[in-house]
Amino acid sequence: MLTPKKFRHCVLGWFETNGRKELPWQQNVTPYRVWVSEVMLQQTQVKTVIPYFNRFMDRFPTVQSLANAPQDEVLHYWSGLGYYSRVRNLHCAAKVIHEKYSGEFPEDLETLQQLPGIGRSTAGAILSLGFQKRAAILDGNVKRLLARLLAIEQPMTDSDTLKKLWEVAEQLLPTRSVGQYNQALMDLGSLVCTRTKPQCEACPLTPLCLAFQTDRTHEIPRVKSKASIPIRTVHLLIIQDAQGRVLLEKRPPVGIWGGLWSFPIFDGETEIGKAFQKKYSYGITLQGTLSSFYHTFSHVRWAIHPTIFRLNPSFSLSDTSEILWINPKESPKIGLPKPIMHLLERFGGQIS
Ligand code: SF4
Repeated sequence: MLTPKKFRHCVLGWFETNGRKELPWQQNVTPYRVWVSEVMLQQTQVKTVIPYFNRFMDRFPTVQSLANAPQDEVLHYWSGLGYYSRVRNLHCAAKVIHEKYSGEFPEDLETLQQLPGIGRSTAGAILSLGFQKRAAILDGNVKRLLARLLAIEQPMTDSDTLKKLWEVAEQLLPTRSVGQYNQALMDLGSLVCTRTKPQCEACPLTPLCLAFQTDRTHEIPRVKSKASIPIRTVHLLIIQDAQGRVLLEKRPPVGIWGGLWSFPIFDGETEIGKAFQKKYSYGITLQGTLSSFYHTFSHVRWAIHPTIFRLNPSFSLSDTSEILWINPKESPKIGLPKPIMHLLERFGGQIS
């Protein structure tokens, strides 16, 4: 029978010999380092996050340094990680902590959750791992583990299910070693109770786990079938000037690739040469095309058609806060989405 005491004993005992203790954010632990790592780890695997975290911390070692940095530079250190609203929120929240709380992290759940991008689980991680305070977490991995433990049939996205999972997370929470316990839960969820093929043979919770005992680990948690995401055709204009530089545009502050720099993007239905001329009053001449490719976001899939143009020679277009000419062989300290980084790397030598 599941009791909080038995559960904690199993989880902490497993962590002692199997848990991860050498991750970069587990060294020199501060609320700030916990926060940045938690935000980076949302939707992203540990091995991908490690080099990003190390570079980010080298450049922004404190919440003050992050708050004072220009957005372009902050986005640069996130380039390629995706889900850029995370870093925009991180930057905004750093400014609030710096200005409103004199650079000190709030130490209570409610205040933390008022900061941009900090939900209840991230706030719980900051409090428990960063301050050793008693607070529950419920990231995606822990949700899945608890849903299997209790054989919860309803999809985890249902509000009633979420409420139930939070109640269970609170009931199971120990009064001591909360940081270690939460870390153990996250590790068990991500390393053992994996989304597909959970490794029950290596799990300390088999005597307590209802999904295991009823042979339903493959059915739980139930996933709502996703509506198929729409495909949108877009043209990516790689426009060169006479010196071989290429033109980048700053994306609008919110939405896809918000605040990052990209080659100009036009809708698939547009006559792109004319659209560019209308937007900038400068003519461009078609030079060639590159292979089309897809890029998938959480809610839409882009069919991207990169086309190379040359800015008509009698024109010049100067840098502004919204447009920037760069040498494709250099890597400026600005935020670039992964497909744009790849295009710059791959074709840097060829498109001049
Ligand atoms: Fe997950 Fe299997 Fe452990 Fe249950 S026994 S918590 S399904 S790994």
